Amino acid sequence: MSGDKIAYDVLMWSAGIKACDSHMEITQLDKKGRLPVNEFFQVATHQNVFAIGDIACVLDSQGKPVTSSAQDAADQAKYLVYALPFILKNQKPPFPYKNIKHGFIVNVGGKWAIMSYNGIYLTGWLAYFIDELAHLQYYISVVGFYKAVKCVIFQMEIYSRND
Ligand SMILES: Cc1cc2nc3c(=O)[nH]c(=O)nc-3n(C[C@H](O)[C@H](O)[C@H](O)COP(=O)(O)OP(=O)(O)OC[C@H]3O[C@@H](n4cnc5c(N)ncnc54)[C@H](O)[C@@H]3O)c2cc1C
Repeated sequence: MSGDKIAYDVLMWSAGIKACDSHMEITQLDKKGRLPVNEFFQVATHQNVFAIGDIACVLDSQGKPVTSSAQDAADQAKYLVYALPFILKNQKPPFPYKNIKHGFIVNVGGKWAIMSYNGIYLTGWLAYFIDELAHLQYYISVVGFYKAVKCVIFQMEIYSRND
């Protein structure tokens, strides 16, 4: 750290997976070193500090910490974009953040997967195929259709090689 000071009104720091207690002087971290936040992502001991994503300990409606995922981090970012203007005007946002269960697909080897989504539970090749479609959709959004198809075919070849 250079020790340089940066003046700001609102600082957005999109870095780090572990709470940095020495810099923020926050003592009440959870077991995983995350910052406990309320339903508006305000850090418990510092109401003008907001934490989302892996660094935040977000509780679900039963008071249990939610699993960290990219989808959750994106949901939380969208919510904060909505809530922050209210909070900056010292108003309470009309809606608190509500965690959404996204489901998951986990690959097992090169041709199998386990999937849980909206009460649907699948194992085997069909789950794997759905996972590949999900990858295809994501790659298309990044590199376009043609390259995305090539990426998915390449990935299938690589991962199924050891099966
Ligand atoms: C192996 C693995 C597989 C995963 N698979 C999935 C999955 O399939 N689906 C899913 O939804 N989630 C998955 N996750 C979880 C997901 O990646 C995280 O929940 C999500 O990326 C959290 O986003 P974030 O912005 O909070 O943190 P990050 O995405 O980790 O962003 C933090 C950024 O800060 C940078 N950084 C850290 N320290 C500093 C510093 N001191 N200065 C500057 N920059 C810094 C890091 O380099 C990083 O770019 C996976 C995680 C891992 C590790």
